[in-house]
Amino acid sequence: MVIDAGHGGKDPGCHGKHFKEKDVALAVALKLGHYIEQNDKDVKVVFTRTTDTFVPLNERAEIANRNHADLFLCIHCNANRNTDASGAATYVMGLGKSNGNLEVSKRENASILYEKNYKQTYDGFDPNSDEANVLFAMYQNVYLQESLSLSTLIQGEYSKRINRTDNGVKQAGFLVLWRTAMPSLLTEIGFLTNPDEERKIGSQKGEDQIAEAIFLAFEQYKDDKDKSAFDPGAFNLSPLVLKNNTDTISTPAGNTASNVKETNENDSLAGTNPLKATPDTAQVSRTKTNPDTAQTAATPDRKRSAKDDSNRIKVNRMKEEVADMQKAPVKQLPVREPRHDTVAAPKQALAAKETIKSDTETGRLVYKVQFLVSSSPLSLHDSRFANLPQVAVYMDNNIYKFTSGCYNSTKEAVDNQAMLRKEGYKDAFVVTFRDGKRVFNTKLSAK
Ligand SMILES: [Zn+2]
Repeated sequence: MVIDAGHGGKDPGCHGKHFKEKDVALAVALKLGHYIEQNDKDVKVVFTRTTDTFVPLNERAEIANRNHADLFLCIHCNANRNTDASGAATYVMGLGKSNGNLEVSKRENASILYEKNYKQTYDGFDPNSDEANVLFAMYQNVYLQESLSLSTLIQGEYSKRINRTDNGVKQAGFLVLWRTAMPSLLTEIGFLTNPDEERKIGSQKGEDQIAEAIFLAFEQYKDDKDKSAFDPGAFNLSPLVLKNNTDTISTPAGNTASNVKETNENDSLAGTNPLKATPDTAQVSRTKTNPDTAQTAATPDRKRSAKDDSNRIKVNRMKEEVADMQKAPVKQLPVREPRHDTVAAPKQALAAKETIKSDTETGRLVYKVQFLVSSSPLSLHDSRFANLPQVAVYMDNNIYKFTSGCYNSTKEAVDNQAMLRKEGYKDAFVVTFRDGKRVFNTKLSAK
């Protein structure tokens, strides 16, 4: 397992009045790694950094790939101009449904501005461009299902154990997750810009609790994979006390990145610009001994049945959402300008409309092209689908899978697949349906 503490060194990340993201993320990462090393002799923990050093985003993913990691987990803190914003969210790679997701990925991706040659390293990616961030989010990790299931467990533990507002499991395009070849996620543990939340997540006790929540979620995920029963009382939860914090963790006063220009911007803008210097406001010593940290955390009181019930409710709700979306399929394909100069003109898509068949004819095998999966219910009228023929959705393992077109022949489906791939949906592939259900093991004459 690779644990990635966000930011570091000259990249402080966001900050509140007292704490910097890079320090809080590192403390939580080390504490999480400690819990795992203490309890799981069969798990090798690798950190992308254990000190206050700068590590480029692509190198973090490379560390995970080089080590053939089974899991890549990034720890970050959130920031918002609105100091009331609070709560935790966990992200996996994918197309998000709100601008809020985009803002978070934009801020995190802006870390590459600290890297030399970032344009070359990231194929010309411009972290300041909304469009680049949106298009980039179309890259999907084949391990989405596993990434989502651990993310859901983490969010569940946050709300159960530390009463953090549950902002849910979300999708957005994160550069750090882009090239990882394993289940991967990025958790935003809370808002440093919210004074209450900063106090909690910046304290040793708060960091212990977050690390413990992620650890217990990881154990459930692992037990699920190992097909063994999860016993929350079976773990040694004595936390790692970071005694010499000042060796590895700087206070905001102690470390202003040398290449970062000092500014006198208002504190309320904290964290919105990674190139903004942090204010010299630290009065908090992280070396102060906190009596709470010496104690072993209480055994979690977890009730399986309650969780199962809430999951069932969630699944039912998702099914209803899909049913609602299917009730209102896109009938007319609005003609729109291409959203990006590199995408295919909509001509081809409109031509394909002529051959679209209804898939409600009983018993008939039809071909569609699956082009996108999502953890959340995107609207079929989403403007991003406007140029695509007959977009529909079906659900599989709690994941929304979007298809385009509905054809009697593979040739038409393959043509649509080519169009979708040109549009940027690089993993689009042909799927077969009968009576509205996905069918497998049918021979396709063309790939
Ligand atoms: Zn961050």
